[in-house]
Formats: sequence, C-alpha cells, structure tokens
Amino acid sequence: LSRGLDKAWDMVRKDGKLTADNIKGPMREIRRALLEADVSLPLVRQFVKKVEESALGVKVVKGVRPDQQLVKVVNDELVSLMGGEKQDLNEPRLGPQVILLAGLQGVGKTTAAGKLALHLQKKMKKKVLMVATDVYRPAAIDQLVKLGSMIKVPVFEMGTDADPADIAAKGLEKAKKEKFDAVIVDTSGRLQIDSDMMTELQQVKEAVSPTDVLLAVDAMTGQEAAGVVKAFNDSAELTGAILTKMDGDSRGGAALSVKAISGKPIKFVGTGEKLEALEPFYPDRTASRILGMGDVLTLVEKAEEAAKQNDTEYMMKRLMQNKFDFNDFLNQYKMMNSMGTMGQVMKMIPGFNQITDKQTAAAEKSMARYEVMISSMTKQERADPELLALNISRRRRIARGSGNKEKDVSELMGVYTGMRGQFKRLAKMMQSGGMGGMQG
Ligand code: GDP
Ligand code: MG
Repeated sequence: LSRGLDKAWDMVRKDGKLTADNIKGPMREIRRALLEADVSLPLVRQFVKKVEESALGVKVVKGVRPDQQLVKVVNDELVSLMGGEKQDLNEPRLGPQVILLAGLQGVGKTTAAGKLALHLQKKMKKKVLMVATDVYRPAAIDQLVKLGSMIKVPVFEMGTDADPADIAAKGLEKAKKEKFDAVIVDTSGRLQIDSDMMTELQQVKEAVSPTDVLLAVDAMTGQEAAGVVKAFNDSAELTGAILTKMDGDSRGGAALSVKAISGKPIKFVGTGEKLEALEPFYPDRTASRILGMGDVLTLVEKAEEAAKQNDTEYMMKRLMQNKFDFNDFLNQYKMMNSMGTMGQVMKMIPGFNQITDKQTAAAEKSMARYEVMISSMTKQERADPELLALNISRRRRIARGSGNKEKDVSELMGVYTGMRGQFKRLAKMMQSGGMGGMQG
C-alpha cells in the first residue's frame, strides 16, 4: 500500500502527543515569528521556555500536524499572557471618572484623548471634558481643541504659560462644578524618557487622582516598548495601556510587553487616525496577529471541535463490526461539513480521491435536507437502515414527514449506502495495514 495510506492511517489511528522531539523544529519557527512581531528578546526567551514545558504531552488532535497543534498551544499561552479577557475602564466610586493619558511624543496620546472622549460620550452616554496640559507646544493645545470641536466635547486649557498640574487641578474643579461625568487629561510627551517628563506626570497625576492612568504605546515601536512600559509604570503606576497605530504593518508584539512587564492590561487599540478608530483590545485576535498563523489556528480549532463531535477511531471500530447507521452517517457528514477531516484523510488514499471530491461537495449541499429526513425517522430506523431498504411505506412516511419526495429518501439511501461502502473499504484497508504492516 502507498505512503499516502500510511500517513492517513497515522492521522486516524495515532493518539499523537507533543514531544521534545517533534516540537524542536516548530519551536524555532515560533521563536522567529515572535521576534519578527517585535516581541523583545528576553521576553521571547522566557516565553519559549515556558511553552516548551507546557507543550510536552499535549494531545495532537486528529487531522492536525504536531507543529500546527503547537501553534495552538503557543496561541493559548499568548492569550493568557495578554490577560485573557478584555478589560474595561475603571469606574469612579465618587465624582467624575478621570483618565490620564501618558506616553512618549508622537505615539498618539492626543488622538487617543479624542477617541476616548467620543467613546465615552457616544457609547457610555457620558458628559465629557478634555483637559490640555501639554504646554510646550502651542500646536498641541490647538490640536486638542480642534478634536474637541469635531465631537462637541469642550476642552479646558490655560494657554502655554500655566503649570500642567495646576491646569489639571482646575480642569477637574470645573468638571465637578459643572457635573461632567468624565475628564480626559492629555499630557505632554518627550522623544525619550527623561526625569522632567516623569516628574511632571506625577504632579499631574497627584492633582487629579485619576481612575485610569493609560499609557499610549505605539505598536510600531516594537522592541523598545518594553523599556517604555517599565519606565512609565515605575513612576506613574499605570492602570492599563492603549496600543496605538495597530492599523499599520506592525504585528503587535508590543502588546505582549505591556502585560508581561507592567502586569497591566491593554484596554483599547487605536486602528487609525480618525476618532472612530478605537476598539477594545481582544487578546485572542492580537495573539493570532503576533503569530501570523491565523489559518492554522482556525484549522486546529475546527479539528478540536470535530474531535469532540466525533471520533474517527470509534467509527472505524463500528464499521469493522459492520455497524454504520444513520446516526453515524449524520455525524460523519457533519464532521465533513465542519472541516473535511475525513475528506482529507481519504484524499490521501488511492482510489478514494474521486469519491471524496464529488460526494462531499454534494453532501455539503444536501446535508440540511438529509438531517431533516433522518430526524423524521424512528429511533429504530436510524439504528437499522435496512428497515428502509425493504419497506416502501416507511420511506413514504419519512418523505411526507420531512416535506420531501420519495425519491429524496431514495437519494439519501443511495448516498448512505455509498458512504458505508467507502468506510468499509477504508476500514478493511486499515485493518490489514494495521495487522500486516504497510509497505511503501
Ligand atoms: P501625541 O504626541 O502622543 O499626542 O500623538 P498624536 O495624538 O498627536 O498623534 C501623532 C500622529 O499619530 C498623528 O499624526 C496621528 O494622526 C497619528 N495617530 C495616532 N493614533 C493613530 C492610530 O491609531 N493609527 C494611525 N494610523 N495613526 C495614528
Ligand atoms: Mg499630544
């Protein structure tokens, strides 16, 4: 028999596991993927080590290769590292919600202020005030005022001569007096981390006791993000981050740094220059983006799903005992429909390729009809299809009950018989292969 069958047999027979041996190569690939996504090197090292440990012994789902299964393990690990679920902004116990935005220059703080203002106003129905404390560039204040006027959110500012902490305090005072629900404080940034910037940030923070201190992190900055996150978290104790410019080419490795280094979640993602371009952060989406292997994940997830639905080995056993009833038939078709596992397996076997292509295609279309007909059968009929082969009145009753014609029931019988035949052949081939050892 052919190598194809050998492989196919492996796929259905073996309870594959991830081993030190079969993850070695794929692990190298994953390491490279992480570095390409700009995850910082120490983090990659630490992460790879952890994954290698947790991957060992993991079951490889049927129809999936070990390297693909490994990607799934890595992905799950990434998701949990990035905080699992998405996280909302903190709500104040008393007084207005105050969000302080921090970050280096040009990362998108001011834009994020506008985006958050729009979000809070539109989605959360809050009355929002923005406060401009970037006094070093007159253009910075103008920028915030302009954004505010676009979304009809007032901006509190005191020009470029005032002290940032004082502006923030007065802004909050105004918000309290005028019953604003939320205050967003935009701050100044520098090109590099320096102590003046951090001191000023601390002073502004003290002046307003924010409910959230969010670090804007430019997704394009890559590996440097790690240092930035650490510095800001150390001096201003963040409550979270906004990952900006995720609409760019970046694979978003910075997302990993944020959580790993600060322990704080990413709360939002900026996906464009427009104020509407703000999304909640979804760890799972970002994980697949970092890995850049989204389709593999889909395959594995479908396989895991299908494995739950059905067990091919169990099917083979039933076939060998000459049992393949309408319940099995339905399960098989559902499984084919959801991923084509059986189709994939059968394609590797000479002589089966034709059948698989034609019949699975037709079956996918007919699936819904078949299901209705089968559900019109009695329990007995489902478990013993021969009852139908010999009995026209039963077929008539099923046709009527399911809103079909008699010839549809005959068609179902035909497809069922054909499939049973194929599986029997397959089972026989595997049985002989399994006992005698297959030749290449
Ligand atoms: P700040 O110095 O931190 O306040 O940064 P700004 O808010 O002024 O933004 C700097 C530049 O980045 C501007 O040209 C913004 O339009 C742009 N920007 C901000 N957020 C995003 C984003 O999510 N996607 C894209 N493509 N551009 C952004
Ligand atoms: Mg700014």
